[in-house]
Amino acid sequence: MAVDTIIKTEKLCKYKDKTGFRSDYQCHEKPLSDSKQSFCIFHEPGKTEKDCNQFEAEINDKLRNNIYDFTGYVFPKIRFFNTEKFTDAEFVGATFKENVFFTGPHFNCDACFMGSTFEGNANFIGLIFTLNLFLVGSTFKKEANFRESTVEMEADFIEATFNGRTDFIKTSFKRMVNFNGSTFRKEAFFEKSTFREEAKFIGITFGERADFSESKFKDDVNFTKSKFEKRAFFSKSIFKGEIHAKDTKLESKYDSVIFFRLAKNAAYTHGNYVDQGYYHQKEMDQIRKGQVWYKRGWNFIIQKLLHGYGEKPINVFITALIVILISSLFFSIFGIHE
Ligand SMILES: [Zn+2]
Repeated sequence: MAVDTIIKTEKLCKYKDKTGFRSDYQCHEKPLSDSKQSFCIFHEPGKTEKDCNQFEAEINDKLRNNIYDFTGYVFPKIRFFNTEKFTDAEFVGATFKENVFFTGPHFNCDACFMGSTFEGNANFIGLIFTLNLFLVGSTFKKEANFRESTVEMEADFIEATFNGRTDFIKTSFKRMVNFNGSTFRKEAFFEKSTFREEAKFIGITFGERADFSESKFKDDVNFTKSKFEKRAFFSKSIFKGEIHAKDTKLESKYDSVIFFRLAKNAAYTHGNYVDQGYYHQKEMDQIRKGQVWYKRGWNFIIQKLLHGYGEKPINVFITALIVILISSLFFSIFGIHE
């Protein structure tokens, strides 16, 4: 009875989940006496040096006791996580103030990092995620490194923000991967990466070089409404599925020609002649932009008006009408001579 009364009257940490992914989360720790927001040692963002030492000791206790719920925790210093023993990995809304290293090599549970913030470099190098990887709405303020890692199930990076260099070199995605609405402010390297199922890159901004050289897309890839603001490399990339690229913008004319040619060829391979025509048009638009004005004009007439008989029957009628009108004009001027 007395214990119950103590628990009821004792104040608890007032941390509340802001990501929307753990709205039922309740922290059962005691708040720090000097915390402005009445947060505990784990959730307090402004930890003192003494707090940091206490935090280290208490986190190690949790890891020893196999407690892996770190929702909203603020990790103050460099941290190494050996994921091998993890039976759960709740890092929803967590903040890593310095560089963080996840070593394993396995992550044997869902890796939940939704809405997390990495203020230093985030290292997930060579890790094998045997289940799903969730980084929805996460922010990487410095480098994000997933080099040579493997995601066996789905990988979700929806609306993630990558402010530093991003490394997905030789990364293998075995199921669907979703980067929709993400922003890459620095170089994004996807060289020699493998996408076994659909890869979604819809509405993405690549602020610097995006390199997909020698990557393998074994299913469709979707770059609809994405913007490549600097160079985009797709040399020796393999596309087994279609490339969806409606309203995709590439700053470099040279890269545009190559990109839309790849999309055209992929559409042709899958018998999608409507899209093949669309990407052919895009490819030719880019080639024309690099030409002198009179060549541009002539090519415009040839491509815009005459191409696409299969997909644009209206062009047949327009061309026929022009031929009839010109013939009539000649007839009315010169008539028929014996
Ligand atoms: Zn707390």
